[in-house]
Amino acid sequence: MNLYDRIIELIKKYDKISLFFHQNPDYDCLGSVFAFQSFLKQKYPKKIVMIIGIETLTDEVLLNFPSIKANGSAKDTWINKSLGIVCDTSNRERINDQRYMLCEKIIKIDHHPKVDDYGYLSFVNEKASSCCEILFDLFYYWSKKNIKLNVAKYLYVGILTDTNRFAYPNTTTQTLDVAIKLFDILGDERIKINQKLYSRTLNDVAFFAEVQTLVKYDQKNNLAWLIIPNSLFKKYKKEPQSCVGCMSNIKDINVWASLYYDEKANSWKGSIRSNSIDISKVAKKYNGGGHKLASGFSIPKESQFNKVLIDLKKL
Ligand code: AMP
Repeated sequence: MNLYDRIIELIKKYDKISLFFHQNPDYDCLGSVFAFQSFLKQKYPKKIVMIIGIETLTDEVLLNFPSIKANGSAKDTWINKSLGIVCDTSNRERINDQRYMLCEKIIKIDHHPKVDDYGYLSFVNEKASSCCEILFDLFYYWSKKNIKLNVAKYLYVGILTDTNRFAYPNTTTQTLDVAIKLFDILGDERIKINQKLYSRTLNDVAFFAEVQTLVKYDQKNNLAWLIIPNSLFKKYKKEPQSCVGCMSNIKDINVWASLYYDEKANSWKGSIRSNSIDISKVAKKYNGGGHKLASGFSIPKESQFNKVLIDLKKL
């Protein structure tokens, strides 16, 4: 039996499924859990599929995502009789709700480098652009007729954002093959998804214009960085976020990093990006991880960011 068959057989055995995502979820991870929920609900209407902790996400995160709905919170006694499926999360500490431990069994599905081999079954494909790409493959193998419009929408959002609209090097011929199949299901819906995801309000434009003024450059070391004060998020009523993308594609800047204070985690959340250099080692050193060209980290004090920058300069 191959790994897909083992995953499918295990899921078939459970009436209750708990889906988990990672802290500070992005659209690939949200797309994965929402697609999984929709797919399973279509294929097995009697199963109860809960996305654990989704009610803790703010409207800004949820509203930006096409047509998702929160489904209430799950009790410990419910979770401990369920099968847990963790999407897009390389290590246990980063799972959004640590009650994943209550689940009878865990399946891990991920595309990050393997740093923590958890789960009764673990499907990790580091070559996949996104967790949504892996899920498309799994669902297609399982029951392609159940990849209905809703499922396709969520998967497309995850792939589109994790590849930066098919521009990042993680886009492969397999990614494009999946995209072709999704285009067929989505029709014109894909244009609406693009517009919804990438449209900006005037408030967003003003916010990012101010963020841009805070970027610092070290041209000698081809490095750019940014610290976003919480007062700025408050001024523009924006959810705290990395804004690291505002430093991409600057000529002769090879590595860029941003930092903001994450009130919920009571720590400073950092993001590092590069167009060519493996920055994941530096992220790992500071309680983080991720991909070679896109990683995140977390530090207890703002002042420690200087150490991160020194390590990045050495690269
Ligand atoms: P971010 O900068 O938060 O957008 O994250 C970039 C990539 O690094 C994503 O694939 C994240 O899943 C991953 N990542 C971010 N923070 C961490 C962390 N603390 N530990 C492991 N991976 C992380």
